[in-house]
Amino acid sequence: MRRLHLSSRPSAWRGLPHASARGPTAWRAPPRAPHTRPLASIALYELEGKGRALLAEANICAGATLLQCVPIAKELKATPHAAAVCTHCLGPRRAAPRAGFCSEDCAAEYSAAGGDLLERCDLRALHAVHAEQNRRFPLLVARLLASLLEGLRRSGEAPAEWQHAMALCHAVIPDDAMAQVKEEHAALVAGFTSAGVSDAQSLQLLLPLERYTQLLGAAQLNAFELQTSRGVVISCLLPSVASCFNHSCEPNVLVSCGETHQVSFVAGREISEGEELCISYAPLDLDYEARQQIFKYKYAFTCTCSRCAEECPEDKPHM
Ligand SMILES: [Zn+2]
Ligand SMILES: [Zn+2]
Repeated sequence: MRRLHLSSRPSAWRGLPHASARGPTAWRAPPRAPHTRPLASIALYELEGKGRALLAEANICAGATLLQCVPIAKELKATPHAAAVCTHCLGPRRAAPRAGFCSEDCAAEYSAAGGDLLERCDLRALHAVHAEQNRRFPLLVARLLASLLEGLRRSGEAPAEWQHAMALCHAVIPDDAMAQVKEEHAALVAGFTSAGVSDAQSLQLLLPLERYTQLLGAAQLNAFELQTSRGVVISCLLPSVASCFNHSCEPNVLVSCGETHQVSFVAGREISEGEELCISYAPLDLDYEARQQIFKYKYAFTCTCSRCAEECPEDKPHM
């Protein structure tokens, strides 16, 4: 068992074997994690025969917050609630100083993450894909691209959001979906080009089809769908450490938003030192078959946890 460093020593992450249950890993040196605040003793280990896993490094009380972070990219579901909250933090909106936000800080952070730039782009084609097929991931990739362009414009460097996204493990997009993916990629490049934010050649260098496909695959494996206490539903990508939790249908860690976009990972029960920390990749109230469908089609694995073993119908032992 080898202990890996979560963020302080990036080199420890390089060259991990492809052992994740969530598909091919694509680890690169993770960036510093300004979006992330680990609050309790958790550590990333490489377990023999199992791959990477987050473990408790001390006994943890039920209700303890293990990790807090804000999304590196998010899309709001269009609901009446969404129109009443701060565009950036999802807290209560105020009319001043800038309409649509709660504070000057939020307006500035939104702008620094490429929000203003993205508003200038014509993404109607991608919004149509979202509306017709409920595919939000192209819009998440558009947000990441906007944050990259804005980061490059401001400092000449790729921002932490982009580096986190590139460090996420990703699903391989099937060949029969590639025609659509190519079309989306072309629509994304055209949407940014028509707004004059960048020329097509630079965009093809920053986000070639291969990288677009990688980010879609990362969204497929790592996107969280969460609801704030104000009823706002978001689909979001979290910093890479938050995507290191493995799955269990009886998770000891619960993921939730409060009033804002800050996401908390909280111990759902007492956890002993050395225990693996797991979240559920599917809603806990789904039955066995519905859960397995999600694991199979979204994450390409079969869950064999004790709850699944108990709930598995006898005629489908190897679903
Ligand atoms: Zn705000
Ligand atoms: Zn299970």
